[in-house]
Amino acid sequence: MNDLTGKVALVTGAASGIGRAIAAAYATAGASVAVADIAHDKAKQVAADMGGRAIGIAMDVTDEAQVDDGFARVERELGSVDILVSNAGVQIISPLVDLSLADWKRMLAIHMDGAFLTSRAAMRQMVASGRGGSVILMGSAHSHVASKFKAPYVAAKHGLLGLARVIAKEGAADGIRSNVLCPGFVRTPLVEKQIPEQARELGISEEEVVRDVMLRDTVDGEFTTLEDIADAALFLAGFGSKALTGQSLVVTHGWHMH
Ligand code: NAD
Repeated sequence: MNDLTGKVALVTGAASGIGRAIAAAYATAGASVAVADIAHDKAKQVAADMGGRAIGIAMDVTDEAQVDDGFARVERELGSVDILVSNAGVQIISPLVDLSLADWKRMLAIHMDGAFLTSRAAMRQMVASGRGGSVILMGSAHSHVASKFKAPYVAAKHGLLGLARVIAKEGAADGIRSNVLCPGFVRTPLVEKQIPEQARELGISEEEVVRDVMLRDTVDGEFTTLEDIADAALFLAGFGSKALTGQSLVVTHGWHMH
């Protein structure tokens, strides 16, 4: 199930953090991998470091033309896409009453428009190839729970559950599965940046943010790791039948149970 030999995977936001770990795991499992990111130079470097058949793709996931052009390039150079991980994301920490409309729209554009545009492009290739495929949307524990100061992030991550369920229904006839992967806190740049920001908003120390906010509701007070999420992404990509579709897989040290 974890052998991806002959498959083509495109991972967005793959120049850093979770996306990079997933792209590397897919490459190790034998897939040809497109490392797509708005940070193009970094994406190219990550792909080069990966070895094997990997290419870096410049892609702002909020830009329709960049998404469609990027997928066309992947099809030309690696073949049509079998696995999409729509992972690019940012975080904005702000009380709702202070949040600007511009920041709200930016967050929804990256997480929701990005998931729509990349899923549409991937599904078109999966239908045309006749091979179907696996669409994985990067959710979060915040696809299921809410936290203060993260209104647009929580709204967007909840929204991805709906999108994945529609993709599962519409894609089934063509062998396309879709699932949402929901990590707990993983120590990536996205998280390192928000520890001092949350400390400021809450008026507590950074250690207290980690212990009493981020990890409070886990079963063991532990961060989720890049390896945990890469393993789960490998499982979702390689699962052999449409029995596993329209679901969310929550990998959070028990922070959220459902
Ligand atoms: P990260 O900051 O390490 O990486 C995010 C990547 O996305 C960066 O390389 C960045 O350049 C890229 N990106 C940002 N905007 C983009 C755009 N418009 N187009 C293309 N690429 C863009 O963050 P991460 O922690 O690895 O987060 C990856 C995903 O995982 C996000 O969707 C995030 O919400 C989700 N997530 C993270 C955590 C966590 O604790 N780190 C937990 C749950 C979910």
